[in-house]
Amino acid sequence: MKSPLETETIKTPLLSMVIPCYNEEEVIGETIKRLKAFCTDLDNLDVELIFVDDGSQDRTRELLKGYALEDSRIKLIGFARNFGHQIAVTAGIDAASGDAVVLIDADLQDPPEVVHEMIAKWREGYDVAYGTRTERHGESVFKIATARGFYRLLNGLSNVHIPLDTGDFRLMSRPVVDTLRAMPERDRFVRGMVSWVGFKQTALPYKRNERFAGESKYPLRKMLRFATDGILSFSTKPLQMSVGLGMLCAALALLGILYALYLRFFTNIWVEGWTALMIAVLFLGGVQLICVGILGEYVGRIYNEVKNRPLYVVQEYLGFNQGGPEMSRSPVVNKK
Ligand code: UDP
Ligand code: MG
Repeated sequence: MKSPLETETIKTPLLSMVIPCYNEEEVIGETIKRLKAFCTDLDNLDVELIFVDDGSQDRTRELLKGYALEDSRIKLIGFARNFGHQIAVTAGIDAASGDAVVLIDADLQDPPEVVHEMIAKWREGYDVAYGTRTERHGESVFKIATARGFYRLLNGLSNVHIPLDTGDFRLMSRPVVDTLRAMPERDRFVRGMVSWVGFKQTALPYKRNERFAGESKYPLRKMLRFATDGILSFSTKPLQMSVGLGMLCAALALLGILYALYLRFFTNIWVEGWTALMIAVLFLGGVQLICVGILGEYVGRIYNEVKNRPLYVVQEYLGFNQGGPEMSRSPVVNKK
């Protein structure tokens, strides 16, 4: 147990910035310069810069090592191979020890200056301040259009409200970070997970710049994978849709069966064996789809179980012993 005096000692709060990098040798020097300049403008806040090198094949790792040796605020996590942006961000979050954690891309598309506004929001009492893109420069019409469509589709399918046109550029308070760390799912769609967590969140509109140098590390293939992860991690609607489809087909099959029976018994335009065949095909088709749908419902539940997310997230307890009741299934207890 700490004595009251020890807990009273005032520590400068720490801000952890997590910067995933994959083949960013052309931008990394400039990024470090901008981030260092950003750090000098902060009052009453220490900073650690956690660079996660996601298995770059160029000189990114070597450069980062050099910077880390020169400046104790710079830390490096080097992956053994490319694991993908979302995993890199996760590793950074896991390693961060700050009172707040900022996720920011290495390519300066997200201006570090906006982080000042995020910090202001955090000091006002918000737990998440996420950047919403009002304008996007230097990105193809195709990318912007597909991204717009994707976020709208995702929100239509998901029960969690995931803000539109929002990337991973955001600040998160320690309780949010601790909750994220208690979510062990393997296919990680970080921006959705942060929405799922809850707490007090706010949007900060900003202009997304062009990449400082180099090319996007998200080719179409990775983008599709990412979009699929987003939808499948936050919605079991595609699975449930087969029940609806099965019901619809069964209803149509019933009409088809009635029609076949009608032709057989009330008209003379029928071919021998056709009625029985039609009934068998239509009946089985309907039954099969409904069964697939039922399986889907179970698979959806198994999927929810294996994601092993906390059942609920508690922001605060009142009237319990310090730290909350012992039986809690929630990773987070007292906020402050
Ligand atoms: N990135 C990563 N691993 C990957 C792909 C990208 O760590 O496999 C990093 C990349 O270095 C950048 C950030 O994730 O800092 C966003 O990537 P990028 O700028 O290429 O994506 P875009 O902005 O074009 O969507
Ligand atoms: Mg980028």
